[in-house]
Amino acid sequence: MNENRHILVVEDELDLAELLRYNLNISGHTSEVVHTGQGALNAVAKKQPDLIILDVMLPEMDGIEVATRLKADESTAAIPIIFLTAKATDEDQIRGLDAGADDYVTKPFSVSVLLARVDGALRRSSKHAGTGSILELGPVHLNTDEHEARVNESSIRLTLTEFRLLASLMAGPNRVLSRRGLISNAIGPGITVTERTIDVHVAAIRRKLGKHGSMIQTVRGVGYRIVEPTD
Ligand code: CA
Repeated sequence: MNENRHILVVEDELDLAELLRYNLNISGHTSEVVHTGQGALNAVAKKQPDLIILDVMLPEMDGIEVATRLKADESTAAIPIIFLTAKATDEDQIRGLDAGADDYVTKPFSVSVLLARVDGALRRSSKHAGTGSILELGPVHLNTDEHEARVNESSIRLTLTEFRLLASLMAGPNRVLSRRGLISNAIGPGITVTERTIDVHVAAIRRKLGKHGSMIQTVRGVGYRIVEPTD
């Protein structure tokens, strides 16, 4: 499934960059290494990677800025990004998630953990690419073209905002999305609604998911995530 995947590594620590290149290559991926944010944007423009491993702390243009620019451009918005960060505080994680990170690995990390995350992100993105607009997690099935939602085989009726919220969560299972991030995904950037509005929509979605409502977890002080059902 993951053969011939091209990974862009953006890391200004040369030894670490080389270590990543070596390990990606022996895992069967091709990779390109750049050391600056601008280098990353240039590399993406030349050859679009299947995934980007992006260090947050880079000289001049940092990783958050690089991700923000890539996510703002329709032609590059879908490229999965895994941030490497030395900062493990929640606030930094939220900034990263709002900038469109698909996953996070905090330094220092083990290479095998990072490679597992890479494979997970590639699997999620190829699943989405391969089936167009189908999002599935456990019993929950969304078809974003048809605006159709099902739990097991039963259709459920979601409002447009509820549908978009659920789709945002399902696009990255286990990933925490801040309320602000959810507002911008589901309602639109720059539109003023209170974070409480999101709580109300999430409560409605949970109700409609019935016994699977607990798949949507509240992460206190942060936001929400969706996980596979435990039964
Ligand atoms: Ca760095």
